[in-house]
Amino acid sequence: STGVPSDLTPAPASQALFDRASAVLPGGVNSPVRAFRAVGGTPRFTASASGPWLTDADGVRRVDLIGSWGPMILGHGHPAVREAVVAAAEKGFSFGTPSEGEVLLAEELVARVEPLEKVRLVSSGTEATMSAIRLARGFTGRPVVVKFAGCYHGHVDALLASAGSGLATFALPDTPGVTPESAAETLVLPFNDVPALEQAFAVHGDRIACVITEAAAGNMGVVPPAPGWTAALLRETRRAGALLISDEVMTGFRLSRAGWFGLEGRQRVDLGDGAGEQALAPDLFTFGKVMGGGFPVAAFGGRADVMAHLAPAGPVYQAGTLSGNPVASAAGLATLQHCTDEVYARVDAVAATIRDAASAALAAEGVPHTLGVAGSMFSVFFTDVDVVDYDTARTQDAGAFAAFFHAMLDAGVHLPPSCYESWFCSASHDDDAVNVVLEALPVAARAAAA
Ligand code: PLP
Repeated sequence: STGVPSDLTPAPASQALFDRASAVLPGGVNSPVRAFRAVGGTPRFTASASGPWLTDADGVRRVDLIGSWGPMILGHGHPAVREAVVAAAEKGFSFGTPSEGEVLLAEELVARVEPLEKVRLVSSGTEATMSAIRLARGFTGRPVVVKFAGCYHGHVDALLASAGSGLATFALPDTPGVTPESAAETLVLPFNDVPALEQAFAVHGDRIACVITEAAAGNMGVVPPAPGWTAALLRETRRAGALLISDEVMTGFRLSRAGWFGLEGRQRVDLGDGAGEQALAPDLFTFGKVMGGGFPVAAFGGRADVMAHLAPAGPVYQAGTLSGNPVASAAGLATLQHCTDEVYARVDAVAATIRDAASAALAAEGVPHTLGVAGSMFSVFFTDVDVVDYDTARTQDAGAFAAFFHAMLDAGVHLPPSCYESWFCSASHDDDAVNVVLEALPVAARAAAA
């Protein structure tokens, strides 16, 4: 494949906006993946969105499979969420005192996820993971954080790190601006690799504060935990006196009422620690995206005895001017209240239809690919290698994806502009929207094969 973007649909208004944006915003965007660097061409500026549709500045309407990178599980502009936002805004925008909305949202989270006893609301997933790590370090009195290559937990300095030279050696900064010191207490291991995990714990176990993992990975494409992986994380952390932080910013309240935990966590397993059969319950969770319904709300929480170490109850400092913001909390609560069993069933069905059709279309054109699936999250890997971790995810043909992406865009479907991202469906994807996707896929598969 040439990987040359086709850009058949003219986008003069988006181009003009991108030119203006580039004069005042680095790279023309406020978050890098929006800039189309991985696929080439001009990012489409959204003028408005409704249900499953994005309308760009040139008036072109497309089916949205980005879903604001996760939050829009009900589709854009859900009437009940809009009403909740307006009603909250009429009472004020931000108080700086406690208010009922944040209590209601916290109660909803705790009711949905059994091991979640206490939560702290924050404003972004990055804040949630950063704060959860600080709490884990404060609680255990230990410095080391274990993360997995290809898992993204936001732009926390200590987590913008890649593996050092050996499995049990410390990490190196992944970007300028992160000091070697910030990465020096981070261990980066391959995802789904139990022997590497055991080796790291054998060498460093008594200095490890926590393991942070994506419950099911969605930021190297979708890579679910292999059978036994989550149990191994729990077993190793328990044995060493470290905490397990399950990052459900992307999966939380999307894959089920209780996120990935609701799918896998309720399994009862014997970890061999003498405690008998137990749920696969992490010590801490992080959430964001769906729980804010498109507004800046996120959370971390878990065991009450751990959360008791958080200020003002305990000594570990954490704070935020806009934490528990009443308008954003109302949006999150209304979104979760409308995430019913029917909603999850519809999202599951839409995702299954689209991923099966994508695979069939690519197979018909002989394009090497594999699907990564975790509940209703999925991605298409442009490789025929079995993808289990970041190294295998990186065997993809990015050029084939770029051609596929632009053909989809021309045919009225906005995919995430990178082959390392999940495709996000919503309950608002009705048959009209799904049919647009189904008609686009064979055309795009031909482009990917070219
Ligand atoms: N954790 C995961 C698993 C994510 O997918 C993301 C964002 O994509 C984050 C954390 C960071 O969240 P935010 O972008 O809200 O800071």
